[in-house]
Amino acid sequence: MTADGELTAAWRDVVDTARRTADEGLVVGTSGNVSARVGDLVLVTPSGVRYDRLGDADLVAVGLDGEQRIGTLRPTSELPMHLAVYRATGARAIVHTHAVHATAVSTLVDELPAVHYMCAALGGPVRVARYATYGTDELARYMLEALRDRTGCLLRNHGTLVYANSLETAYDHTAQLEWMCHVWLTARAAGTPTLLPQAEIDRVAQRLGDYGQPR
Ligand code: 13P
Ligand code: ZN
Repeated sequence: MTADGELTAAWRDVVDTARRTADEGLVVGTSGNVSARVGDLVLVTPSGVRYDRLGDADLVAVGLDGEQRIGTLRPTSELPMHLAVYRATGARAIVHTHAVHATAVSTLVDELPAVHYMCAALGGPVRVARYATYGTDELARYMLEALRDRTGCLLRNHGTLVYANSLETAYDHTAQLEWMCHVWLTARAAGTPTLLPQAEIDRVAQRLGDYGQPR
């Protein structure tokens, strides 16, 4: 594939993933944002533009320094969070949402209690990053703290952030995180949930490496 072809394919993946967050109820309107890394470029959704209006000509890319390299639309206001993850990890893709159960949980606890083994897919019990105003370097710093040894976190009074080596996995783990938050809220409303010990989460983390069809 040519370099241009690779960029166009990655952009379509970014736009399709952003549309999915809206279509499947993980965000409302233009909330949330999505990015993917291609070499030294980071393709990001533009700020405040409805995802169903984005086409191939709207591609927005920035360098790891935050300078805009491609496109005229202004990048997402959460560029500091996206760039902080790409600078600190080997992430290839990031999904940020305002999913309702995850956002509710972010207002209640400092860590999502281990009610389900799928927290192992994100590296263990998912932490809640301290609150800071959206789009700030401060929020990016708090998010990195919460991401230590994890590939996802909740953002207090705000939403979710998950990274992965593909948009498909970043989206899937975001949906799993939102589902676990729903499970915890449901169980807690009905009684006192039992929690999984760390040793079991470690065992599941190993097992998940071989989950599904042989690769
Ligand atoms: P953008 O439209 O600038 O991406 O902002 C949405 C958002 O979720 C801010 O936290
Ligand atoms: Zn947000």
